[in-house]
Amino acid sequence: MRPALILHGGAGSPAADLTAAREQGLRRAFAAAWTILQQNGSALAAVIRATVELENDSVFNAGVGSCLNQEGNIEVDASLMEGSTFRAGAVGAVRNLRNPILLAQAVLDAGRHVFLVGEGAERFARLQGFPSATRPELVTERQLRRWQSAQTTGEPGTVGAVAMDTGGHLAAATSTGGIFNKQPGRVGDSAVIGAGTYADDTLGAGSATGDGEAIIRATLTRTAIELLRDGKDPTQAARIAVDFLHKRTNGEGGLILLDALGRVGYAYNTPAMSVAFLAGDRVVIRE
Ligand code: ASP
Repeated sequence: MRPALILHGGAGSPAADLTAAREQGLRRAFAAAWTILQQNGSALAAVIRATVELENDSVFNAGVGSCLNQEGNIEVDASLMEGSTFRAGAVGAVRNLRNPILLAQAVLDAGRHVFLVGEGAERFARLQGFPSATRPELVTERQLRRWQSAQTTGEPGTVGAVAMDTGGHLAAATSTGGIFNKQPGRVGDSAVIGAGTYADDTLGAGSATGDGEAIIRATLTRTAIELLRDGKDPTQAARIAVDFLHKRTNGEGGLILLDALGRVGYAYNTPAMSVAFLAGDRVVIRE
């Protein structure tokens, strides 16, 4: 089966000075994950690889370059799910971590729990051998300036990846620093299975971005994936789900989707959302 892949780099009002850097970051992450899929690697391995690349890129609000909370600290959220086994792993409000998606993977692999948060998740990270990332390693000048000037516009930058491998299996991953100036301890949709991330081989898989509180209340990715049950085109399903998000919660956001055939879809109701997918043999980036 021909593999499929779609990535997002967040929904919101984009900072124009970062457009080229974001595009470059998405291309790099896409190429890395695509290589895995072409070599018959799993969809789960591909979404993890894409997400790690984007977490390491400081122009995105995930891992390095995450936004700061009310107290000027970084607390990250991430989750991932495998559509064939329904295995899932998630972490919320975790400090001092460079690659939250790898900690979510460790939770998935350990198998006993699905969702670890805060101090317990940090202790689990140390036990698993994750190094404690230092503040200078994670906090960028840009995010620090933003926090110092209490700039409130919703810059995008959450990252997400959805893949289908050559075996026809699906996986999805999402990672974020959350929303700017959030309350310490706040966990958003990106860590919540069914809201920010979901995968089911029989229907489809998706990753969301936008107003986390609204996306949780609308269980956005699961809602969109349920719509695929009627054989709807993924673009149409994503559109209906985003309209539902807006109608019922007044929330703004978007999501990327793959259906069980590997067809891509996405929709958003924010001024912009960055997306990367394949059209024929060409990687298309939409901002
Ligand atoms: N959904 C993320 C959150 O609420 C933020 C975003 O996607 O921009 O934490």
